[in-house]
Amino acid sequence: MKLILLGAPGAGKGTVAKELTKLDGSVQISTGDILRGAVQAGTELGKKADGFMKAGDLVPDDLIMGIMEERLQEDDCKKGFLLDGFPRTIPQAEALKELLTRIDIELDLAVNIDVPRDVILDRLTTRRTCSNTDCQAIYNVKSNPPKVEGKCDKCGSPVIQRADETDEAISKRLDTYNEKTAPLVGFYEKEGMLLTVTATSSEEVVKSIQSGIGK
Ligand code: ADP
Repeated sequence: MKLILLGAPGAGKGTVAKELTKLDGSVQISTGDILRGAVQAGTELGKKADGFMKAGDLVPDDLIMGIMEERLQEDDCKKGFLLDGFPRTIPQAEALKELLTRIDIELDLAVNIDVPRDVILDRLTTRRTCSNTDCQAIYNVKSNPPKVEGKCDKCGSPVIQRADETDEAISKRLDTYNEKTAPLVGFYEKEGMLLTVTATSSEEVVKSIQSGIGK
């Protein structure tokens, strides 16, 4: 599968991507995970991205395109990839289209995971993430807490609330999404690539995607 996953922060892009990777060995590519890894490792990229991310703003398009141009040409992408959190702006979508033509890759679909705003807000304020950047497992204090409070089930590292998951940064991220990313739905509709899924359970979303691409 070669898919773009669209949807507001908290729509479940990451969860759906993880389930899809189990089906056919496609890799999940999350620009958010890559950036958080870079911030924690203190790389040049991380230093440039940190301030934007803490404020809930988008990281500049040229930095993101630099990351993706390299990432999409790595060997593990040959089996397929699930783009989670990218593209996030119309210029990124246009640059991606140009890049894919240049490196001769064709996408199957752009999937818009459509979840009501109240569900999103509730999920984001209760979401917790493993602090180990190689793991980044996701929990929810209400619906999916770690077995031992504050400790990751998979790797034992502390489970934390992300720096951009304060009420203020969440509301900023949702506004940014509506302003900059929501227009991508129209972009991919025009490209004839859009599948919209209105569902709040990740299993239902995965099923709709499978029938949408006939796999
Ligand atoms: P969420 O989808 O829950 O907002 P992500 O983990 O996808 O979280 O992204 C976290 C932050 O990383 C964003 O708020 C933004 O600052 C930055 N980011 C991630 N992907 C992109 C992108 N494609 N373009 C610009 N900034 C990005």
